[in-house]
Amino acid sequence: MGECDDTQQPQERSFVGVHMKCCNVYTRAYLNVQRDAFVGWCPRCAGQMRIRVVEEGGTDARFFEAS
Ligand SMILES: [Zn+2]
Repeated sequence: MGECDDTQQPQERSFVGVHMKCCNVYTRAYLNVQRDAFVGWCPRCAGQMRIRVVEEGGTDARFFEAS
């Protein structure tokens, strides 16, 4: 539950902030194992969101909105 989670895999902690429109809350979406998408869950309704990672030349945005 804290910010000191060392159980993660020893790779860079890539994540983005996401605004969950469904419940109007902010959460984080983490890069999945395949490293092709950020995946996160709404902390209130547990709805899953997924953001595809665009490879080279893609967006470098660090913040997204999920509906
Ligand atoms: Zn929600």
